[in-house]
Amino acid sequence: MERDELRRRLEFYQALGFKQIYRREPAPVGITAPPPTLPAVEIPESPIIDMAKVPEIPLPSLAPKGDSLLRIIEDIGDCHRCRLHEKRNKIVFGVGNEQAKLVFVGEGPGADEDAQGIPFVGRAGQLLTQMIEGTAKKEGIPLQRPDVYICNVVKCRPPENRTPEADEMEICGEFLFRQLSAIQPKAICALGSTAAKALLGGKDGVTKLRGRWHKWREIPLIVTFHPSYLLRPYNQDAKREAWEDLKKVLHFVYD
Ligand code: URA
Repeated sequence: MERDELRRRLEFYQALGFKQIYRREPAPVGITAPPPTLPAVEIPESPIIDMAKVPEIPLPSLAPKGDSLLRIIEDIGDCHRCRLHEKRNKIVFGVGNEQAKLVFVGEGPGADEDAQGIPFVGRAGQLLTQMIEGTAKKEGIPLQRPDVYICNVVKCRPPENRTPEADEMEICGEFLFRQLSAIQPKAICALGSTAAKALLGGKDGVTKLRGRWHKWREIPLIVTFHPSYLLRPYNQDAKREAWEDLKKVLHFVYD
């Protein structure tokens, strides 16, 4: 074998992670069994990159200049970017005021939302509407559901209402981020831990995150329980806490 050819092969095996390779002698005539291995040829280690020293490069937003909800809907199109498209009926983009001061972010559409193409219209949605309008009324804030904006992390219903998977959240999350950037609300309310994870990163659940302010790209963000969780009869404490969270965010935004 030519020197160049040999070098190319060595580089190829090195790229595959091999640190040693062995040269084989031609088999003596009449013997087909492999001959004993010969001394190892050492291949120098490829340089190890110390990731701690690599400067963090902020990822540019993929949102085009002058982005709008309409443009985002057009970009989503008849989305086939992840497996969630396979069983969906309708893409559930978001609903409400494009200039809302407050945006609620849920996890993903359920059966009713998938059928209608509108977020939070099933039982959890009715509770969310009651929570928004009931709390606002009690607190003397003139606010109806259409005044806010409501959307989800993923825009297609996960089969059997399972939690969206990491890659699904990442792909669809780009559209959520564009929605939030286009609306530029005064505050965001993340409903449940999937929304909290999508917007804040990290692994903490609602119990750890609620009751204090966070930020999504400089926009104040509060985390509270998902209305589906509050529908379970034994979650009375969570219900009270969710009402506290809602009061806090409504006063912050509308006072
Ligand atoms: N649950 C969600 O997270 N979103 C909806 O739109 C409905 C139920």
